[in-house]
Amino acid sequence: MEEEKFTLLRRFQYSSEAIIYQGKLESQGIDVFLRDNNIVDSNPLYSNAVGGVKMFVKTEDFDKANEILGDVSLYSVDDENQPLKCPECGAEQVDMEQSIDGVRSFFRVLFLGAFALLFSKYKHKCQNCKFEFE
Ligand SMILES: [Zn+2]
Repeated sequence: MEEEKFTLLRRFQYSSEAIIYQGKLESQGIDVFLRDNNIVDSNPLYSNAVGGVKMFVKTEDFDKANEILGDVSLYSVDDENQPLKCPECGAEQVDMEQSIDGVRSFFRVLFLGAFALLFSKYKHKCQNCKFEFE
């Protein structure tokens, strides 16, 4: 059996958003896999800590899926669904990024439970000027 590979398609702050787009993709015959949606659902405050709800598709479906979601921003949005602006340069190309001790955070989460998520090191990073902020 051929091994299937998966590619991260989008991150969403809330699983309710992710589910809307999951439905859109599945209606076009694309299999969608969400990660961390349960933990984000359990407490929306965890969303930033875990880097949002991750949406994966099969690598072979990525281009098609990306096209279908073409109108969905690649970048982070705030609670009102407005694009996050960089406090430094004002650009809207802000992405969520895992810091270098992300792996350690992962183990901290395993050992200390969800509480540790609040202290893990996901940050926002401006893709324009590379400024990082919480
Ligand atoms: Zn910037």
